[in-house]
Amino acid sequence: MAKVTADHVRKVYGEDTVALDDATFEVPDGEFVVLLGPSGAGKSTLLRILNGLTSPTEGGIAIGDEAITGTRADVAMVFQMHYLVESMSAYRNALTGALSRTSFLSSVLTRYDDADKEMALEALDTVGLLDEASQRVGSMSGGQQQRVGIARALTQNPALLLADEPVASLDPKAAEEVMRYLKRAADERDLTSIVSLHQVNIAREFGERFIGLRDGEVVFDGGPDDLTMDV
Ligand code: ADP
Ligand code: ADP
Repeated sequence: MAKVTADHVRKVYGEDTVALDDATFEVPDGEFVVLLGPSGAGKSTLLRILNGLTSPTEGGIAIGDEAITGTRADVAMVFQMHYLVESMSAYRNALTGALSRTSFLSSVLTRYDDADKEMALEALDTVGLLDEASQRVGSMSGGQQQRVGIARALTQNPALLLADEPVASLDPKAAEEVMRYLKRAADERDLTSIVSLHQVNIAREFGERFIGLRDGEVVFDGGPDDLTMDV
């Protein structure tokens, strides 16, 4: 169960770069939220705080009743630059998602158990790449690579799925396809999802709820009917 609560979150880099300013919102368990806002609005900073990669200067974010204090096995992230190993197969890449939730010893030895393998295959199935499981990631299209990135996140078996501009580097058709798989994955697994996008048309098609950021402030929080083109 992953309800997310952000309580007056402020993030200042260095002396005076205010990346987030008094951001407050609540995401109920299972909701698919799209973060909108121009470059520099604070979207990546918010996602990095949610992923435990950086901490707020003031205020806090909680998952369920637990304040986030660092990276967590049940929070997975899909990146714009997918950081996959291009020389490895889609399957081997997906499998590495399991490392986030295994013991230190097995992660050092890179040993996967049958449950890990099953989860990686299920994840590839969810993103429509089961037939391409043994294909080298380097030989895949950008959209397919991003779907492998989603499969890797799913193999982590998260409760909260984060994605930072997951389709920013794709052409519109591939972007829409990747978003369709991401939404399907979230729906199938009842995942709470927070996805940043800058394309309002794609956001409108897939989002259930929209949080708009500008200069670190929440300037919009609502459903598709309230969404205007200039968020
Ligand atoms: P977005 O993802 O919406 O483009 P970011 O969260 O990346 O926004 O950035 C918000 C603001 O914080 C910007 O002014 C950006 O330059 C600044 N910023 C982001 N990361 C850092 C950092 N590591 N150090 C200093 N400033 C940063
Ligand atoms: P995006 O716009 O996709 O969020 P950026 O290019 O803003 O990415 O940031 C890429 C990396 O550089 C991030 O790790 C971020 O923390 C860092 N960064 C961004 N802005 C600054 C900044 N003004 N000073 C230092 N680091 C920054």
